[in-house]
Amino acid sequence: MAEGRLFFTSEIFEGGRRRRRVARPQKTWVEPSRTLPVFAECDVLVVGGGPAGTAAAVSAARLGADVVLLERYNHLGGLSTGGLVFWIDRMTDWDGKPVIRGFAEEVFDRLPKEYVCGPARADWGSRDAATAAYWSLRAAAFHGIVTWSPMVCPERLKLVSLDMVEEAGARLALHGWASVPVVEDGAVKGVVFESKEGRQAILAKVTVDATGDGDIFHRAGVPSENDIEKNDIHHCMNTAWIWAGVDMKRWMDFRTSDPDGYSAFMALGREKVRHFERPFTSWRDDVALFMGPRQSGFDALNVDDLTEVETLCRRLMWQHLEVFRAHAPGFANAYPVQSAPQMGVRHTRRMVGVEKVVRAQWDDGTPLSSEVGVSPSLSPRFRNISVPYGALLPRAVDGLLAPGRHLSCDATSHSFMREIPQCWLTGHAAGAAAALAASVGVAPRALDVTVLQSALQKQGAYVRPSASSDRARPRAQSPAAERKAIS
Ligand SMILES: Cc1cc2nc3c(=O)[nH]c(=O)nc-3n(C[C@H](O)[C@H](O)[C@H](O)COP(=O)(O)OP(=O)(O)OC[C@H]3O[C@@H](n4cnc5c(N)ncnc54)[C@H](O)[C@@H]3O)c2cc1C
Repeated sequence: MAEGRLFFTSEIFEGGRRRRRVARPQKTWVEPSRTLPVFAECDVLVVGGGPAGTAAAVSAARLGADVVLLERYNHLGGLSTGGLVFWIDRMTDWDGKPVIRGFAEEVFDRLPKEYVCGPARADWGSRDAATAAYWSLRAAAFHGIVTWSPMVCPERLKLVSLDMVEEAGARLALHGWASVPVVEDGAVKGVVFESKEGRQAILAKVTVDATGDGDIFHRAGVPSENDIEKNDIHHCMNTAWIWAGVDMKRWMDFRTSDPDGYSAFMALGREKVRHFERPFTSWRDDVALFMGPRQSGFDALNVDDLTEVETLCRRLMWQHLEVFRAHAPGFANAYPVQSAPQMGVRHTRRMVGVEKVVRAQWDDGTPLSSEVGVSPSLSPRFRNISVPYGALLPRAVDGLLAPGRHLSCDATSHSFMREIPQCWLTGHAAGAAAALAASVGVAPRALDVTVLQSALQKQGAYVRPSASSDRARPRAQSPAAERKAIS
């Protein structure tokens, strides 16, 4: 029996497993060893072309590194495009100051205005009730404060990402799925990947794992955390979809002017569909986005679970269409244009890193000496969060950096550190670090962080190294010492 429950303002569904699971045979098969062709040798290999990987490839190539960006699908942007997660969350703090800058700002400078819907710069941080009420319906005002958290066209974001990668001079390899890291003497030296050409290797001085699920660091032996409760929203999965032919202005009028009618409609939807989701606005008022219904209790590292959530969501989309067309103001002529080619996964592994973004920072707000960027906090009650370089550095292994939604952080800090702007921020920092480490021939963990900070500032990132006050924070040991401590 499917149950819906409210988490903040989002509903999540404990769908339970419905499909019959075929027991897996208790057998093994020994894969014969073989000699593989080398597809490429480079300074920096970035695995995964989502927000983190795209930013990493661009920043590394701009610092002169020879970069290969390997992506399993046919586009860049990861969940922000292929997952149809095109509501780019907050890049301003609660005073309206842009803190996620650098790569993020350049993306928006390049996106033509017609492909972006968000508040004007003059309104960022505004507490004017009418302005905040208007933007809250478009997911760009929270706690009565207008934020820079726009909706963008995913197809145009794919193009901008592609332009930035190619202009920076990085080599793009699409349709290649990294399977295992090449590890020698405790350091990652590249990856093995599968494609239509078969199994090949890419060798690199530094590898950036931007797979979102830590595929590379996990298989290199780096420990990870997965302590978020299966029923928490941050563990939920779903395939998003978009409909065209809608009149979102009419829908928003209905929501604000007829709260009882809206409640009755939602109740009807729950009765008919059970796992029922409300729409988000998009970059156009004739396109609606559905980033749910969120399915809890599944594991995005399990093939059977992934299959089940995909099939469930595809059916749910058509069931929603029936209810919305018949009963929702503004949706009579709605028609489906796309379901996401990429499953919406919020959380799988979080790397155990040399440093970590932690809950204590929310109240403290002190810039760390190893700061590589600044994240807005979850609510105006908290301070801005200093993101340390060590959160991108895995323990126990050298030659590897891991930005994006699998970075080193605690479970509650993951709720915002996984967002697209934060993934741009950490990807930007990891790419710069990888290029600098490769150019001077040191392991990423041995890099002078002040050199990294200065390179990031030159590339437009917001970093505040001078105010650092934490010289006593834990620093990286040797990978061998860390492996010993872990084992
Ligand atoms: C339903 C949902 C709603 C969300 N809502 C928001 C929101 O409103 N605002 C917001 O800012 N964020 C939101 N997020 C979070 C955000 O979308 C992601 O956390 C963010 O995109 C993660 O970026 P990433 O680069 O770390 O990983 P991803 O976006 O997952 O990109 C990883 C990339 O690596 C590739 N890849 C993976 N494994 C391999 C491999 N083995 N070999 C080669 N390539 C590989 C993938 O194809 C992908 O392109 C949401 C997420 C979900 C799922």
